[in-house]
Amino acid sequence: MLERDTRRLFTPALRAELGAIAARAAALDADDSFPDEDVAGLAATGTLAMPFAGGEGATMDPDDLMETLRAIGHASLPLGRLFEGHVNAAALLRRYGTPRQREEAARRAQDGALFGVWNTEATDGVRLVRRGGGLELEGRKIFASGAGHVASPLITACDEAGDLLMVLLRLDGGLRADLSGWKAHGMRASASGSYSFSGLPVTPEDIIGGPGDYHRQPHFSAGAWRFCAVQLGGIERLVEEGRAFLRRHRRDGDPHQRARMGEAAIAAETARLWVERAARLAEAEETATEAGAAEDAVAYVYLTRCAVERSGLEVMEAVQRSIGLAAFLRPSPVERLCRDLATYLRQPAPDRMLCEGAAHVLGQERPLRELWR
Ligand SMILES: Cc1cc2nc3c(=O)[nH]c(=O)nc-3n(C[C@H](O)[C@H](O)[C@H](O)COP(=O)(O)OP(=O)(O)OC[C@H]3O[C@@H](n4cnc5c(N)ncnc54)[C@H](O)[C@@H]3O)c2cc1C
Repeated sequence: MLERDTRRLFTPALRAELGAIAARAAALDADDSFPDEDVAGLAATGTLAMPFAGGEGATMDPDDLMETLRAIGHASLPLGRLFEGHVNAAALLRRYGTPRQREEAARRAQDGALFGVWNTEATDGVRLVRRGGGLELEGRKIFASGAGHVASPLITACDEAGDLLMVLLRLDGGLRADLSGWKAHGMRASASGSYSFSGLPVTPEDIIGGPGDYHRQPHFSAGAWRFCAVQLGGIERLVEEGRAFLRRHRRDGDPHQRARMGEAAIAAETARLWVERAARLAEAEETATEAGAAEDAVAYVYLTRCAVERSGLEVMEAVQRSIGLAAFLRPSPVERLCRDLATYLRQPAPDRMLCEGAAHVLGQERPLRELWR
């Protein structure tokens, strides 16, 4: 029986902080920027510490976590991306870390450390090599959110036997970070640059779990519901901005505008329904313990990713067409939100997600109403 953490993540203190975070988002929309103040706000409200608290195998309430990710994404998609990585690191530590590793990480999170998960790499990916009787890292990660700012990234590294391991590091500066390649259309403040690990020593205590744990299913794939929740917050914000513009310009009575806003509202609510169900399925106890339930949950999350991507694209089109050219002019918040959302919607292998989700549906004899428990 898994222990469910009953403490709330979406606290009144966090709710109060979100206004300031949203107000800072426009100023942070620049190359090489990073939301230091926002992260400090998350630390001050206990939002960084909470995902690391709780005993072995403890899980968080999916509805509470979804509302938190959604609300932070609504205020700032770059901050939402960073916080989603922080929560992912906490989930991996809860699942695979030793009690000592978990306690140490919880202490660091309590002290305000931001964690992240850095897995993506180019041809010079990270390897764990033996050198001088010890272990050392070689290579670099790319698209590493918070590069130069995240104090405790959990990275993947291939050892000499070819096994993929997780290594939790404690970095003390940004010298190895390179943001020169992160000249991004949107999500600029996520600082998703590259980071070189070559020469950094690793002790056995830094290694989290065993070979292959990072990709272990269903958690690896099902956990994608969390970035969908952040994206949902951005999608809803965009509908709200479109609505505000139409009302301000007294164009909200026009039937074409109403039709488009109706479509946008349907798309946003569709995304919400998928994400809410995905969160509950992904975090359900049966998903962790029963093979059939795990396969159902993974397929559901694959389809959720597709549904949320489609909703985001539809909402962007509807809002841009409703507002017109003004939606493309800085400093319109819609201009920035569309760039952030369009960038953040680019996640790995979307075609494969649809195909594998579809293959699961095609392979089942059960009626559709019984497919997703
Ligand atoms: C804002 C942001 C922050 C990020 N932060 C992090 C981070 O902190 N840590 C981290 O590890 N990663 C991070 N990433 C990277 C992320 O995990 C993915 O690696 C990245 O988003 C993949 O996007 P892509 O469009 O290049 O994907 P791709 O998978 O390359 O997809 C591009 C297109 O190619 C298709 N395709 C994919 N594979 C094949 C194939 N084999 N043959 C033919 N077609 C194919 C896809 O269906 C799609 O149409 C971040 C990404 C973003 C956008």
